[in-house]
Amino acid sequence: MDLQAITPGMYKDELQHRRDLCVAGAWLYRRGFVVATDGNLSLRLDEDRVLTSPTGMSKGMLDPADLVVTDLQGRQLEGRLGPSSELAMHLTIYERRPDVRAICHAHPPVATGYAAAGKTLDKALLAECILDLECIPVAPYATPGTPDLASTLEPLIDRYNAILLANHGVVTFGPDLLTAFFRMETTEHIARVNLVTELLGRQVLLTNRDVERLLASRNRSREASSDSGHARTAESAAADDTARNRRDLEVLLAEALRNLNDHH
Ligand SMILES: [Zn+2]
Repeated sequence: MDLQAITPGMYKDELQHRRDLCVAGAWLYRRGFVVATDGNLSLRLDEDRVLTSPTGMSKGMLDPADLVVTDLQGRQLEGRLGPSSELAMHLTIYERRPDVRAICHAHPPVATGYAAAGKTLDKALLAECILDLECIPVAPYATPGTPDLASTLEPLIDRYNAILLANHGVVTFGPDLLTAFFRMETTEHIARVNLVTELLGRQVLLTNRDVERLLASRNRSREASSDSGHARTAESAAADDTARNRRDLEVLLAEALRNLNDHH
């Protein structure tokens, strides 16, 4: 399948939206963000209707005619197949965030690894990621495809646009499908960079001042919050580092002593 671009412009007819959703599904599949029949996508066609991927199909092989239309309560209006098993999660996000018009859910392997490790992506490592997502929290585990999944997400939906789902995957959302997809890409990218810095054993975090400057330059209407949720900067990580360095030192000392004993 050719990967044509998602059509630009805000005012699209339903067929354009259907084509865009299939393109985004193919992109998720080609990048290895979903395997088999994993993942799901949706967008709001209008104030009353949601277009979503069907259950049980590869997101890399969708045809516009395969897609499902539901109302905001999840009642199916169109489509020969059933809607995605995670439709409840999508509808909860639309209900809580009227600004959200599209949602991507996938299992990109590195970000999903962080989700499975219960590790928030909260380090101030990359300017571009801070500008768009600040930090990416982990929602507690809930069985996929159950209402529990939507309820564990609820406290995080208002504040974030990308959320790791513990032992499961990632959900991202935004004002259009392209933005939601880009946020999935950005989440996997920051997870990879985090992993590399962890393998290298060194993370040089941006400072509070760097992050404040970035956030000040950001042109968006979302209310800035002063409490938790910001990326962890060099200063906020310093206290932890002191404790970790001490632990590392203790391990090194113990090792050195063991080596000495072995050689004598
Ligand atoms: Zn999933």
